[in-house]
Amino acid sequence: DHITKQLDRLYNAQAPETGIIKNFIKAETEANTQLRSYANNVKQNHLDNYVYFRGLTEFSNKCSKNCYYCGIRAGNKNVDRYDVTDEDILDAVRFAHEQNYGSVVLQAGERSDKHFVERVDKLLRKIKQITNDEIGITISLGEQNYETFKRWFESGAHRYLLRIESSNKILYYKIHPKNEKHSYEHRIQALYDLKDIGYQTGTGVMIGLPFQTRKDLVEDLLFMRRFDIDMVGMGPYIEHQDTPLYKYRNQLLPQQDRFEMTLNMISLLRIIMPDINIASATALQALDPMGREKALKAGANVIMPNVTPGMYRNSYKLYENKPCTDEEAADCVSCLEMRIGLTGNQVGYGKWGDSRHYHNRR
Ligand code: SAM
Ligand code: SF4
Repeated sequence: DHITKQLDRLYNAQAPETGIIKNFIKAETEANTQLRSYANNVKQNHLDNYVYFRGLTEFSNKCSKNCYYCGIRAGNKNVDRYDVTDEDILDAVRFAHEQNYGSVVLQAGERSDKHFVERVDKLLRKIKQITNDEIGITISLGEQNYETFKRWFESGAHRYLLRIESSNKILYYKIHPKNEKHSYEHRIQALYDLKDIGYQTGTGVMIGLPFQTRKDLVEDLLFMRRFDIDMVGMGPYIEHQDTPLYKYRNQLLPQQDRFEMTLNMISLLRIIMPDINIASATALQALDPMGREKALKAGANVIMPNVTPGMYRNSYKLYENKPCTDEEAADCVSCLEMRIGLTGNQVGYGKWGDSRHYHNRR
């Protein structure tokens, strides 16, 4: 039928047509359903039906930046700042390892001081040691200089997540302060550096930001494809009352629309980049209790269960209604496997689950 033909055209195109993508981003129910099952098939054909776990540790909410959307920005005084101790981080890693998760993700606010750089370096080496090199390590610690990226790569991190947030430079500066510390060019350069060093390089955007158009989202997808990215984590933008963007809350699309559009973006990306890793963002679950599972049926193949020690979770609030903040990691594990089974996928226990695209492009 007509919808399938359009999807075939996207899938087979050397240069995907922006008009088709744009229509699907905000599709109606019937087209949504077809788009998502098409993307799910593309995933099954190019990858397999494994979903990979990355145990996520949000090990510090201290941040030197002031992104206008983020609840833990430096300028927010209503946050209790914490640093999980090295021992607690290693315990979380041990937990993930024991649960047979193939990988961990270390995420935190952005800091670049010497002490922090060294601390991460040591942690990475320690993680490799206590897990006998059996666990994949992704880091997501913001923009750093080439030397720092390289140092962390050499001490054991092999994937890096750095969202471009929006590939539209004008929009980028509406959601970040206009200064050296929040330079669009520097962020792009950082992505080039990561790739050059040899990381599996991940990026992503927020969907439903104030001022964002559907054309921006089309361009975001094409940006990821042009950049030949290995992994993507994109999620809905969710407002937070202690941030500068909160004053635009009345101009936002309803949360339900942001949610549906995110699923559509994931499906479209799967169709135009069949062999990359796509994460089912935690923010999806804040908008729908089955949000992450729905993304796994729409083309995503990675999920990041939170393994941060429970007592810190309430303080890592990027947006409102962050899920699971009052649960210990162990509480979530048993139900996750069942929920993934329901999506027709199986958990890739014990596997790193590297981006196939990364290996194909090298
Ligand atoms: N500091 C690092 C960085 O910025 O890359 C890593 C941690 S940062 C909290 C991780 C991601 O959270 C950002 O890339 C951003 O897309 C997302 N985020 C922040 N505030 C958000 C919000 N209000 N709604 C949805 N996602 C948000
Ligand atoms: Fe800091 Fe990252 Fe939040 Fe920006 S998005 S304020 S860099 S934690």
